[in-house]
Amino acid sequence: MSGLFLRTLREDPADAEVVSHKLLVRAGYVRRVAPGIYSWLPLGMKVLRRVEAVIREEMDAIGAQEVHFPALLPREPYEATGRWTEYGDTLFRLKDRKKADYLLGPTHEELFTLMVKGETSSYRDFPVTLYQVQTKYRDEERPRAGILRGREFTMKDSYSFDLSDEGLKDSYDAHRVAYQRIFARLGLEVQIVSAMSGAMGGSASEEFLAPCDAGEDTYVRCPATGFAANVEAVTTPAPPEQPVDDKPEAVVHDTPDTPTIETLVDHVNTLGLGRTFTAADTLKNVMVKTRLPGAGEWTLLGVGVPGDREVDMKRLEAAVAPAEVALLEDADFAANPFLTKGYIGPVGLAKNGVRYLVDPRIVTGTAWVTGADEEGRHVVDLVAGRDFTPDGTIEAAEVREGDPSPDGGGPLVAARGIEMGHIFQLGRKYAEALGLTALGADGKPVTVTMGSYGVGVTRAVAAITEQHADEKGLVWPVEVAPYAAHIVIAGKDPAQAEAATTIADGLAAAGLEVLLDDRKASPGVKFADAELLGMPTLVTVGRGLAHGVVEVTDRASGERREVPLEDVVAALS
Ligand code: ATP
Ligand code: MG
Repeated sequence: MSGLFLRTLREDPADAEVVSHKLLVRAGYVRRVAPGIYSWLPLGMKVLRRVEAVIREEMDAIGAQEVHFPALLPREPYEATGRWTEYGDTLFRLKDRKKADYLLGPTHEELFTLMVKGETSSYRDFPVTLYQVQTKYRDEERPRAGILRGREFTMKDSYSFDLSDEGLKDSYDAHRVAYQRIFARLGLEVQIVSAMSGAMGGSASEEFLAPCDAGEDTYVRCPATGFAANVEAVTTPAPPEQPVDDKPEAVVHDTPDTPTIETLVDHVNTLGLGRTFTAADTLKNVMVKTRLPGAGEWTLLGVGVPGDREVDMKRLEAAVAPAEVALLEDADFAANPFLTKGYIGPVGLAKNGVRYLVDPRIVTGTAWVTGADEEGRHVVDLVAGRDFTPDGTIEAAEVREGDPSPDGGGPLVAARGIEMGHIFQLGRKYAEALGLTALGADGKPVTVTMGSYGVGVTRAVAAITEQHADEKGLVWPVEVAPYAAHIVIAGKDPAQAEAATTIADGLAAAGLEVLLDDRKASPGVKFADAELLGMPTLVTVGRGLAHGVVEVTDRASGERREVPLEDVVAALS
């Protein structure tokens, strides 16, 4: 340690919100260069290399072959698939000295497709699976969580190329198993959830989420059936449609000063309508605007949800992707005077030609209390299918614990997780866009079908920290720890230094990498650093040496035992 390029910090970095960010910086594993952009120091590099090694071994084991693409890429392939614009502000775009457009790769489907197109011709060349471990660039909107969400980060991405749907399914399943093995070896607990494939297009898709409070993904599961899905992928079961003609007539009421659902419900309950209303009887109309990236013009969209639920922006974003979506600002209201803030209703939206999508619960025959498009007025018993007809449904309302599982299995429970990996069956979208075909056995061309699979490599380092660290510092699972053991020389007695060196040499000879704290620091400083740095096993050479023993501490459990000097190497190996 006296020669290790390392400085530990006593204070958490001011900008750090999550445990992994605080600890990886304090323990001298990473340093921030700019928001979402980090440098890796020697200890961090060792963990990163070990994570990569596990991933490479498991990818190689399913027959995937490693390649490498540049991060700096020309515009054209991304133009061909539409992603040059679809990626929106997340894409880092730049120009070279000749003013030609380039980008920093956020993901590499296009390049892999073109490589396979260039190197293959007949059905005999398939199936094939390729992967790389490469730096990705995404100008993330919220790079808040340290290396959990970087703007520059490392990803293992792989792509399978098959000629048949069954082949794609096999490649997908092989990845699924490989990912389970990878995360088990990395010491990461993961939950596999159904996912949306979003901007990537394609069909079947699952995410591997590491359950943890710092996670930015919310998922739900049904304990009874094992159903699990990212909330973005949860579909709302629609109640049965009802007759419209037995419903009371829609009546507009004065409801002064009721801009919120709560004030509205209170007021309507004072009208003496012979029923008690709750927030779930109201229809809340949230105004947003959408646009296709690069299209310039924003279009208004009304989103109707039952008033006891909020609109979940992440679900809404996923539902309208690849279009971008934003809430209306004051200027938008000013430009559209027919929008009476707080009193917007489906009738006014229809009159003004505004597209209106509703939560699947708002089926024909359901009656609602909603805005009457005039300041201080609401309508009661506005019936869907009779008084208004939405343009369609949208999955934008929040999903809550206790909601019925889409598979009919009972109530859902909710939890948070970090997206560690994503696997999906892309299908033929990229092959079609870029003309990847193979000559079949019958001489006819076959369009190749693809799968795309990603693991966050740098993110894994942070996620492991989130799941294992404690209040004293980092705790590394053996497979990824920078060093298997950390030896502390507790006192000044030269015999201790000598014994510690002997142990270190013995462990090294047994194939274990060890960190030896030979610094002239106080035992307190050394122990605090050892706990902060998080090697799985701590060997303390101190007073016990007089009786021929050293202390061996397990970092994760805190369990200590005395081990005779001559048994240490055997005990740790
Ligand atoms: P997220 O929803 O967290 O933004 P994503 O859906 O955009 O992730 P993919 O495009 O599927 O992610 O990328 C594959 C993997 O790369 C993810 O499962 C995740 O582990 C990792 N990853 C994605 N974005 C980042 C990032 N900004 N920083 C670190 N790792 C990331
Ligand atoms: Mg993302």
